Amino acid sequence: MTVRPILTVPNPILKQISKPVEKVTDNTRRLMDDMLETMYAAPGIGLAAIQIGVPSNIIVMDLARDEEKPKVKYFVNPEILEVVENLSTYEEGCLSVPDVFDTVERPEKVKLTYLDYNGKRVTEWCEGLYATCIQHEMDHLKGVVFIDYLSRLKRDRAVKKVQKFNKLKSEN
Ligand code: ZN
Repeated sequence: MTVRPILTVPNPILKQISKPVEKVTDNTRRLMDDMLETMYAAPGIGLAAIQIGVPSNIIVMDLARDEEKPKVKYFVNPEILEVVENLSTYEEGCLSVPDVFDTVERPEKVKLTYLDYNGKRVTEWCEGLYATCIQHEMDHLKGVVFIDYLSRLKRDRAVKKVQKFNKLKSEN
């Protein structure tokens, strides 16, 4: 497993639309292993393939808290089948927008279908942090980053902050 560099805004690759995976193969699994390693190293709770520059519909996630055992989830070609009307608000962050957090409103429950690590179809309802996180990650597959939901002023400020953060990092 390899930790790969995570792309940050305003990298135009993050705006790309990712493509469906035809078949879950050993190569897909190797990519998912790298994504998980990269996510843990960051550290983060979710990562979409495009964040490491691969435009494929793949997401990894682990929502376990510090004291819990890992709860790794892999999503290939995730699709939302249904959403409820009720919205919930979470303070979101993103590995592609380091050190920026803001609130986003999304449906509080979604019915999701995807292929797992072994290419097996899973269909389930997600709620709470899981629902928020999967919607956030699925936005990445459509070229959308959470700061796109914020006002222009906040978005510009976030991008500037990331550029400054990256500059400091490269100088150290
Ligand atoms: Zn993100």
